[in-house]
Amino acid sequence: MQTFQKMQALTNRAKAVDRKPMTFLERIYLWNILKGMLITFSHIFKKKPTIRFPEQTRTFSPVFRGLHVLNRDEEGRERCTACGLCAVACPAEAITMEAAERLPGEENLYREEKYAARYEINMLRCIFCGLCEEACPKDAIYLSETFTPTNFTRESFIYGKDNLLIPNPKTEAADLAKAKGM
Ligand code: SF4
Ligand code: SF4
Repeated sequence: MQTFQKMQALTNRAKAVDRKPMTFLERIYLWNILKGMLITFSHIFKKKPTIRFPEQTRTFSPVFRGLHVLNRDEEGRERCTACGLCAVACPAEAITMEAAERLPGEENLYREEKYAARYEINMLRCIFCGLCEEACPKDAIYLSETFTPTNFTRESFIYGKDNLLIPNPKTEAADLAKAKGM
């Protein structure tokens, strides 16, 4: 009783349980079944809150943050210089990378003298906060408007460069246009 009074004082929503014996109508449940069916029936004429995904999709909010993309410059070179700022900024410790030095003759592949030989994001850890995008000084990573596709194994949610890099605008222009939904 004391606890009940305390709760009432705290939330002002507590109610004493009604322990009245059930009436005849309540005991045969007919009225309650009828009420339930009426509620179900009334929903037939209401606008459906669900959609037929994936054939239909909803419009994203302008601030939606989806799957990460590793960017290239206009000449198709990887922008990431493996500085590690995105990994440091990541609150979920979802980003791992290994840096390597660009070799002579690789200037057409990597924009800077250092690049990410391995770059991985664990999508199961990621909370899609966008801090990696904000921390990047090279405009090398951004969050797109794409969902992370579903999968069956935990390993398949670790995205490497093969999943993250955008198609090369010089050599894979058609793939890039497709990826951008053009
Ligand atoms: S979006 Fe946030 S949680 Fe995900 S990798 Fe970037 S910084 Fe980490
Ligand atoms: S994505 Fe940007 S912040 Fe992260 S390592 Fe590459 S250049 Fe640095």
